[in-house]
Amino acid sequence: MTVELKPCGTRSANVRHLRHDEKPCEACRQANLANFAEARSAYSRARSRARQTLRDEHRPEFDELIEAEYRRRKPGEKSNILHQRAMEILSKRHPDRFAVLLAAERAREAATPTPTPKES
Ligand SMILES: [Zn+2]
Repeated sequence: MTVELKPCGTRSANVRHLRHDEKPCEACRQANLANFAEARSAYSRARSRARQTLRDEHRPEFDELIEAEYRRRKPGEKSNILHQRAMEILSKRHPDRFAVLLAAERAREAATPTPTPKES
């Protein structure tokens, strides 16, 4: 039985370099970076959907948090920062529910193949 080796420029090849104590070549280094960036954006998509669901489930509470953030808004602070802060507080107030939502969204991300631009 032969094991087929993935060519350079793939995540597997990058791992192979490291396992062999080699410095990954440029193609492998780039592939690894792209992979890392994709994983990070998959995580942030999942987190943002989980936060939206949590916000919908606790709308009055979220509205109160937002109002409070606006009251102590510092000069020049953008409104999306205030929203982000209110979301963070909300998810810390409901950590168990948030964890469930986040896990479900991450599973969904993992099950979804990397989106390819082919919309018409
Ligand atoms: Zn390589």
